[in-house]
Amino acid sequence: MSEPASACNVDVAIVGGGMAGAALALLLAQRLPSLSVTLVEQHALQPATDEQLAVPSFDARSTALSCSSQRILAELGLWPALAQRAAPILQVHVSERSRPAGMLMRAEDNGLPALGYVIENRLLGNVLLRAVLESPHIRTISPAQVSRIALSADSARLGVGDAQLTARLVVIADGADSPLRQQLGIAADHIPYDQHALVANVVTELPHAGVAYERFTDTGPVALLPLPDHESRHRAALVWTVPDEQFDELMTLPDEAFLARVQQRFGERCGRLLAVGSRYGYPLALVQAREQVRSRVVLMGSAAHHLHPVAGQGFNLILRDCLALAETLTPVVAAGADIGDIAHLQQYFSHQQWDQQKTVAASDWLPRLFSNRDRPQMLLRSAALLGLDFLPGAREWFAREATGL
Ligand SMILES: Cc1cc2nc3c(=O)[nH]c(=O)nc-3n(C[C@H](O)[C@H](O)[C@H](O)COP(=O)(O)OP(=O)(O)OC[C@H]3O[C@@H](n4cnc5c(N)ncnc54)[C@H](O)[C@@H]3O)c2cc1C
Repeated sequence: MSEPASACNVDVAIVGGGMAGAALALLLAQRLPSLSVTLVEQHALQPATDEQLAVPSFDARSTALSCSSQRILAELGLWPALAQRAAPILQVHVSERSRPAGMLMRAEDNGLPALGYVIENRLLGNVLLRAVLESPHIRTISPAQVSRIALSADSARLGVGDAQLTARLVVIADGADSPLRQQLGIAADHIPYDQHALVANVVTELPHAGVAYERFTDTGPVALLPLPDHESRHRAALVWTVPDEQFDELMTLPDEAFLARVQQRFGERCGRLLAVGSRYGYPLALVQAREQVRSRVVLMGSAAHHLHPVAGQGFNLILRDCLALAETLTPVVAAGADIGDIAHLQQYFSHQQWDQQKTVAASDWLPRLFSNRDRPQMLLRSAALLGLDFLPGAREWFAREATGL
């Protein structure tokens, strides 16, 4: 239930009800029901219809969920509701425009029912937010903006409108720009890619047959991800990375001309592209906070690390971070110790640091490697694609990393 903020004491206060905040609240409620958890979101948290957008995380994008994310969501009891709306990824096809090398990875070769699942964010959001609102262990305060944060030895204080919320631990999940991170004086490295992700749903002539396509072109990668059919029409989610200078033009092209441009970049793998829905754009940058934990504070989600979407790993990494935090706090709560103690929070961060580093590196390396026109780099990426196809064990390794297993 959304309540007005009033002066109170809680164990955990989470700022931001996007993918990170909602997922963490649900994991804490399930794993540590003795904790009082309060989630504060500046937009109204309310059950939306499938046509409505809830909070910004749950907008017109689609998310490719890895197998490890699927398991976490299943453990939360959310998978039956999500599975009805998600398309399984049975194969991943990676290729480069105008070059022969390509790589195909199949779920069956890895003994998996699927390599991952694609779901539209508003549907994912509706399931997550409904579960948050129905949980007896989560209190929500929305619409309400946290405007101030102050830390002391034994608590963190949040200013929510005229009221104050005092918590033993504050999780800051307020997005990549994270005003609260800035208030705490935590620096973040911000490296723009000078690119936008242009996102839209498209109707294709042929069924996608569960294939997720990632095609690297000289202006950036084009991904076409499988979506469930709707009213007998075959659908796919387009994520097209375009240079900033081309973005405005592509956003304003008439549908037919836009589809012709996509077809020219992507080819005929799904037959002709027949229709396109509304287009949305996201400026792309790599943002990494220089600190993720302090006494009484954890940065979570995009506030901690905001990645290029080419590898579809942002939310998958966030879910693993959230699970790791809940698992780290489990023995702390059982022992009646202080959940805001920096020693425990540091332990969480040390546990996740390697996972974060390699996921960030892969998400950063891929678009750079494939947007470079130097001949040595072109040879390197052909070799990378061929190597994944021919080196013994390389594809299995890639599959393990991509599925998060
Ligand atoms: C084009 C694109 C495609 C992507 N595809 C994938 C994919 O396939 N797979 C994948 O795993 N990831 C993907 N991602 C990444 C994923 O979408 C992000 O990792 C995720 O949305 C980050 O969520 P967040 O909750 O950390 O941040 P946000 O979505 O920014 O949410 C922050 C929330 O905090 C609230 N807030 C902010 N300030 C305050 C305040 N002061 N008080 C109260 N509330 C506040 C905001 O209203 C918002 O609801 C993609 C990203 C993009 C851009």
